[in-house]
Amino acid sequence: MESPVLGDKSAESGAPNPALLLYWTAAMVPLLVFGGLLGFAIVCVLISAGITGLKKRMQAKRLSNAKRKLLIHSINDDRCTGCEACITVCPTDVLELDGTKSRVARMSDCIQCEQCVSACPTTALVMHYEGTKAPPIRMPQLDDYYQASPGLYLIGEAAGKPLVKNASNLGRVVVEHMLKTGLRANSSGNGQVDVLIVGSGPGGLSAALSCVQRGLSYALIEKDELVAATIARWPKGKECMAEPYDVKCVGLLPVFDSGKDELLAAWRTILDKQRIHVSTRETVEDVQRDTRGWFNVKTNKQVYSAQRVIMAIGTRGKPRKLGVGGEHLAKVTSLLTDAADHRGQRVLVVGGGDSAVEAAIALSETAQRVTLSYRGKQLSRCKAKNRQKLDEVVKAGRVVLRYATNVAEIKADTVTLKAGEQYETIANDHVFVCIGGDAPVKWLESVGVKFIEQPHMFSRPPTDKLVEKLIGPVAATAGGNDAAVMIDPADFGASELEEQRTVIRFPVEKVRRIA
Ligand SMILES: Cc1cc2nc3c(=O)[nH]c(=O)nc-3n(C[C@H](O)[C@H](O)[C@H](O)COP(=O)(O)OP(=O)(O)OC[C@H]3O[C@@H](n4cnc5c(N)ncnc54)[C@H](O)[C@@H]3O)c2cc1C
Ligand code: SF4
Ligand code: SF4
Repeated sequence: MESPVLGDKSAESGAPNPALLLYWTAAMVPLLVFGGLLGFAIVCVLISAGITGLKKRMQAKRLSNAKRKLLIHSINDDRCTGCEACITVCPTDVLELDGTKSRVARMSDCIQCEQCVSACPTTALVMHYEGTKAPPIRMPQLDDYYQASPGLYLIGEAAGKPLVKNASNLGRVVVEHMLKTGLRANSSGNGQVDVLIVGSGPGGLSAALSCVQRGLSYALIEKDELVAATIARWPKGKECMAEPYDVKCVGLLPVFDSGKDELLAAWRTILDKQRIHVSTRETVEDVQRDTRGWFNVKTNKQVYSAQRVIMAIGTRGKPRKLGVGGEHLAKVTSLLTDAADHRGQRVLVVGGGDSAVEAAIALSETAQRVTLSYRGKQLSRCKAKNRQKLDEVVKAGRVVLRYATNVAEIKADTVTLKAGEQYETIANDHVFVCIGGDAPVKWLESVGVKFIEQPHMFSRPPTDKLVEKLIGPVAATAGGNDAAVMIDPADFGASELEEQRTVIRFPVEKVRRIA
């Protein structure tokens, strides 16, 4: 095609040639559009890169700010038992005991190692960055009197209020609250009771004593073969520390500083005197409300109908597993009941908390060889007293302590420990896996208990004050030598006792007392 410029007369005259103009315009438009788009794309890429860079710089700044910030302590007094574990483990003497509560005394000496956090057995002490909130804790949603829903109570350790004395006080609180809110004795026998109590720990036993005192019929169901199974299975010779020391024991089940056996003996005397019936080896599986507002409580043996239900089930739940071969063997258990049963044996204890350490100490008296295997590099989760006793038995060569080890395999007569890439197989007759248990949260949710996050510092009022709020001032329940004689059957009203006995008809073989 011929160019419009050649032989164009208008070009010679200096006037713009319309054809030429049209030609250039047609040629430039796509170029201009393409250029515009390219420019736009480049600008977009530059903006996005700028934003990303800015974000990264801000994040880096935030991180470095956070790094520069101090980790500070939050201590929940409600859960602090004054065990001193955090104080003992602190390398720079930052913490000290104020009465029975841990306190930060010299923060300027804190090297931010967080050993105190790992040492605290009750999660009372946590650390978090200055200017941020302490992490929340998940707890059952309960009203001031431990009701999860009208007539359904959750007490003791399962309610997030640990310790034996609190459990005893709460057993009394909930029965008094039931009476205050309209419960009247009204059961006709044949599996019908005023109050059904799940669990025969201090919470459940105390509640049963209060039921008897107040003329209410009850059924006390215990899944274990032993009454007060958690405490009955504390290691032999274990001391009960009657914490919290600033709270009175006002539950009808006395709690005082003593050896476990002394405490259980005092309880046995009182339970015998009041003819407290415990249906052992019976597990409560379901709790549902019926159309009258009563509860149908299904166990592995029968269905009960109850006006009120107290869940005093503790938190032992399901013991945690190691997840290694041979764990199913009969010689692998989670609780030490009596060290004498393991006389002359070669025993492995796994864990780094109080129950593992107490088991190892007790076994050191009877077993031929005790090995304590802990995956951590130091025992920081156990009470100072236990740590001290363990040091003594390790020094005396009665316990072999293996830090930073994991169980690799369990066989009928050996166990293999792994430390890094090294394996060690040792002769073995029994393994105690004391690595705690998973709280029965799911089961509680299935029976209508809601769980919510609470601030770390959340605490419920002292349990003795709660009893007094309901029934006025009460004297502390006698402890020590007085405990066994403290409750006079006359105080409970003989006629009410008679009524109690006719209402509860447990088959004789189901009725067990602390043995
Ligand atoms: C080794 C060790 C040492 C401790 N030392 C101390 C101490 O020195 N001082 C102190 O104050 N506290 C101590 N504690 C804590 C104390 O044992 C608990 O806080 C206390 O026992 C809680 O009482 P509870 O009634 O809430 O529950 P628990 O005593 O745990 O009783 C719950 C009962 O419910 C039963 N149960 C559970 N589910 C069911 C079901 N579905 N059906 C029927 N029965 C069921 C269980 O078998 C158990 O017998 C220690 C705990 C351990 C493990
Ligand atoms: S963080 Fe370390 S130094 Fe600071 S109080 Fe806790 S244990 Fe002591
Ligand atoms: S370790 Fe926990 S429970 Fe024990 S004194 Fe310290 S804060 Fe309290």
